[in-house]
Amino acid sequence: MNKIERYLAYDGKASIICANTTELIEEIRKIHDLTPTTTAAMGRFATICGIMGLTSIKENDDSITVQIKGSGPVGTIVGVVKRENNISKIKTYMQNPLVELPLKSNGKIDVGGAVGNVGFLNVIKQSDVTDAEYNGLVPLVSGEIAEDFTEYFATSEQKPTVLALGVLVNKDGTQSAGGYMINLMPDATENEITKIEEALSKAPSISELLANNKSLNEIAKIVTGDENIQLLEDNLEIKFDCDCSKEKFEKGLISIGKEDLNKIIEEDGRAEIVCQFCNKKYNFNKEELEELIKKI
Ligand SMILES: [Zn+2]
Repeated sequence: MNKIERYLAYDGKASIICANTTELIEEIRKIHDLTPTTTAAMGRFATICGIMGLTSIKENDDSITVQIKGSGPVGTIVGVVKRENNISKIKTYMQNPLVELPLKSNGKIDVGGAVGNVGFLNVIKQSDVTDAEYNGLVPLVSGEIAEDFTEYFATSEQKPTVLALGVLVNKDGTQSAGGYMINLMPDATENEITKIEEALSKAPSISELLANNKSLNEIAKIVTGDENIQLLEDNLEIKFDCDCSKEKFEKGLISIGKEDLNKIIEEDGRAEIVCQFCNKKYNFNKEELEELIKKI
């Protein structure tokens, strides 16, 4: 299970959410047939999108669409997040999932090279109930994902945030994946900020902590430097969930118009549509396509 826990540190002056998304990222790796490089990029991206589903979505019908368009070879990355009570439901897409780059000189996966450091990160929050829409756009900082989202939180949401995301992956698949996000309350003192900074400077990377089987509770203590953290929530979850259906793709086919549908019937006699988020295939035979033309 993908375990997520929320804590308060320093008597409520800092909050921290920790996520172990190893199983989720392995599931996404298999769905999109990701390479080690794209597993690392997508793993970091999907982890923060999933966390945002729990920290930024308040109502069940709201959604967040996150898009990274960078200059690197993986192309566009998209995540759509919804919330159902304590569950963050996420679906993701990457334009070029088969990209594989050599390791950097420090032995780490070159996520920044794969995503690119020129481009933008776009976050669109939509509410089905109020019809309100919020759109935040920031230029990419490094393409390493965590830095780019930190910039987004600081400039678009005015929320100074410490964000760490990590994925450990080898040819057999995802070994560990997860992240944490620390936010300071306005009443945090210099002393507490210094303690957190010191703890962060000594802490191993999140993927290393998870690979060494540290619990989320232990991780929250290590990265905040507070032994007396208080548990807020431990029943949170991030799940892969695609809401595609044959009906949705029917609407898409109808929207391409009579002429093009007739062309498909003449040339192929059938249509196969693949969902770009979950790779599920939907087949429409000649009769079904002819029925759709009648609806236009
Ligand atoms: Zn789908």
